[in-house]
Amino acid sequence: MHAKPSEEPRLTRNQALVLDTLSEADGPLSAYAILDLLRENGFRAPLQVYRALDKLVAAGRVHRLESLNAFVACQKPDCRSHATIAFAICDRCGEVREVDDPNLARRLKTIADGLDFALHGSVVELRGLCAGCAAA
Ligand SMILES: [Zn+2]
Ligand SMILES: [Zn+2]
Repeated sequence: MHAKPSEEPRLTRNQALVLDTLSEADGPLSAYAILDLLRENGFRAPLQVYRALDKLVAAGRVHRLESLNAFVACQKPDCRSHATIAFAICDRCGEVREVDDPNLARRLKTIADGLDFALHGSVVELRGLCAGCAAA
């Protein structure tokens, strides 16, 4: 990799295709779902998707949802602290909303500091029902 660690690293063709696929998706996608959608663009192996996802996640353009084993495009163009990210995930319809709360990031940092723990990052996943599903 010769890309500089700038704010907006240039994306490779594969990274751009994966990011576009996630941006256009209605919800989170697994790596295999992404592969299926990109087969006609020349994707053949899961490794191609995983490589692109690794870079996109590191760049903060895509986030990984551990509990769903799936990926979403970042919904906050100014998602500054890629270190602390939170999501509200609806268990019924699968809607995922990214939450940007600096207080949460600060609180987690304080907790980590209290544990003498060098925090590298955290993804908080709130599970429950969205307003639409809760009302139904
Ligand atoms: Zn984000
Ligand atoms: Zn819902």
